[in-house]
Amino acid sequence: MTFEALGLNTSIIKALTDAGYTAPTPVQQQAIPAAIAGKDLLVSSQTGSGKTAAFMLPSLHRLSEIDPAAAGKTPNQEMQAARARGERPRFKAAQPKMLVLTPTRELALQVTTNTDKYSVNLRRIKAVSILGGMPYPKQMQLLAKNPEILVATPGRLIDHMESGKIDFSQLEILVLDEADRMLDMGFIDDIEKIVEATPSTRQTMLFSATLDGVVGNMARRITKEPQIIQI
Ligand code: AMP
Repeated sequence: MTFEALGLNTSIIKALTDAGYTAPTPVQQQAIPAAIAGKDLLVSSQTGSGKTAAFMLPSLHRLSEIDPAAAGKTPNQEMQAARARGERPRFKAAQPKMLVLTPTRELALQVTTNTDKYSVNLRRIKAVSILGGMPYPKQMQLLAKNPEILVATPGRLIDHMESGKIDFSQLEILVLDEADRMLDMGFIDDIEKIVEATPSTRQTMLFSATLDGVVGNMARRITKEPQIIQI
């Protein structure tokens, strides 16, 4: 099995080759074609299985196919245009296309680092981490660039959502990574609030060590006819 056979575009394949990935792992073989087709996924798999690439590669593939002309100006460009017109620019909310929720800062940073590696040939696509403990001014700067992809821990994301810095109306892809750990850490209400703020037309992918019990219930509530993958 090759990455080409899974349907990924050549810019992504080149990045994988440069990263030294020669063949997809089992979870990637199952998840990538289904996710490229736009299906919701419920995946039980462990850390080390290659799960980050399993959700990020098909997402990058889909995001890279969105027409850049339809994407409009970034908030930074709009603020510059307002200044040029002699107006006082107002902060405009970031409108990400993809959101990855993770239980910890460390995992969020790992996901962002891997995403940078996979998207190195996709110039338009940027990923940023929104994490508890990071200074607000720094995060405002990152959000003002209107990144396509946000990787976040739930608590800090809620703060930005509630203060109007992030607008999820354009979101196409939602990923819950290590969903069972997020629930163990007490993030259920935050997750529900975030999911409610996203369009019901989104694609949802949930990764978890287990798909039983509380996490299974939540998984069924937030996905539509999901493909279930157990590795
Ligand atoms: P993850 O399970 O996503 O934490 O990935 C575990 C490690 O495997 C990470 O260091 C990835 O960079 C690496 N990895 C993921 N997929 C592949 C692959 N197809 N070939 C080689 N390494 C991979």
